[in-house]
Amino acid sequence: MTRLPIPSQGRDSAEAFVSDHLSALVSDVVRGSQRFRGGQSQAEAILDRFDVEGYAAGRNEVYPQPRRASSALSPYIRHGLLSLQRVWDRVEGGPSADVAKFRNELLWQEYARHWYARLGARTSSGTRHRLPPPVADHLEWDRRLACLELSVGELEDDGWLVNQSRMWLASHWAVRSGARWQDGEDYFFRHLLDGSRAANRLGWQWTSGVGAAKSYGFSRWQVEERAPGLCASCDLVHACPIEDWPNEPELLPTEQPVDLRSDRLETLRRGPEEPTLVEAPELVWLTAESLGRDDPALAAHPDLSVVFVFDQPLLARLQLSSKRLVFLVETLAELAESRELELHVGQPVEVLGGRKTAVTFAPVPGFGTRAEQIRPVAVHPWPWLRRPNPGSVLSFSSWLKAHD
Ligand SMILES: Cc1cc2nc3c(=O)[nH]c(=O)nc-3n(C[C@H](O)[C@H](O)[C@H](O)COP(=O)(O)OP(=O)(O)OC[C@H]3O[C@@H](n4cnc5c(N)ncnc54)[C@H](O)[C@@H]3O)c2cc1C
Repeated sequence: MTRLPIPSQGRDSAEAFVSDHLSALVSDVVRGSQRFRGGQSQAEAILDRFDVEGYAAGRNEVYPQPRRASSALSPYIRHGLLSLQRVWDRVEGGPSADVAKFRNELLWQEYARHWYARLGARTSSGTRHRLPPPVADHLEWDRRLACLELSVGELEDDGWLVNQSRMWLASHWAVRSGARWQDGEDYFFRHLLDGSRAANRLGWQWTSGVGAAKSYGFSRWQVEERAPGLCASCDLVHACPIEDWPNEPELLPTEQPVDLRSDRLETLRRGPEEPTLVEAPELVWLTAESLGRDDPALAAHPDLSVVFVFDQPLLARLQLSSKRLVFLVETLAELAESRELELHVGQPVEVLGGRKTAVTFAPVPGFGTRAEQIRPVAVHPWPWLRRPNPGSVLSFSSWLKAHD
């Protein structure tokens, strides 16, 4: 393990930090997102500017940019800079149809977290169906298509896409081209600043049909509907290879996880309801799930110094695009202005084992395996929007019924 210096604020400094200390852990030449910067103040500014009016009508719009009504809050929600509850409260008083639609999407995020907390690594197989054997692992995007060029460009340069573009790419990959959905999910995960196994796998399972009642077909029709004018700029406007709907892939029966419809072990997967304190902590351990000012452990121990560990074995395996690490470094650099911060690259268990840490529970399997060995002396509750119960996670609607 290596103790790292504290980066100063700013994009250049964050990129230099990743190049100097973390370049072996990323898959590309170091460069931050063209669109997003990390940090609490960025999260606050985007939340402040967000106007929910028009969300219901414009949430699925792709092009031109001013038609889009989505919030672009996901990178900050993903890393716990904004809790779902805070974002939920922020839209109070807006037009009721827009508020309802927006809050419904926040509930999709919460559903994804419950689904993944319950099923963990089993979400890398279809939870409801499987597809016939894939024709390929990887898909080379035909970037002569303006719709693919726009979407792939945003994903790789900005690390973010509106929901509609994610469905287009995922469907093109897994449904029309028959490439392996798990490899597509990995490709998204590498590039997305909001990439989580929870929401990303759920999105891929839903689009490909392996976790839904049917698959989602993508064709020129949606591009004309959601991105008017884009086809006119396409090299293949008169020879469009996605003119027609793709064939519906055969969804084959699969053995569903036994706890998809009800869970007997739920207490292990939702964390404590109140802080558990064995003895007085000496430092706060922050995880990438919860890097915000309002992190419950951080807020409960305002005088303690804070430790963050870049998990070397995990990152070496994931080989993320450097955009994500630049985003995290920008966030940590800002945090270091108000809190004493210790940064390491190595195994979290080696850095933190034997030290008296306070931490916020995180609803992902990786937290459980590390916390078991680190044995924090104080564990703070995860800020659920809906506290998990043993009810169904088979589908969003069955989950919602059980968690209303
Ligand atoms: C194939 C595929 C992969 C996806 N991968 C991810 C991922 O890795 N991480 C991720 O956070 N979302 C993922 N999504 C969901 C969704 O596309 C993004 O959350 C959304 O586009 C983020 O943009 P936004 O913040 O402007 O969303 P808005 O439309 O403004 O919604 C507000 C918030 O609600 C949540 N949300 C919205 N739609 C969804 C949804 N369908 N599922 C879960 N949460 C949602 C997000 O937290 C989002 O920030 C994926 C969807 C698909 C179809």
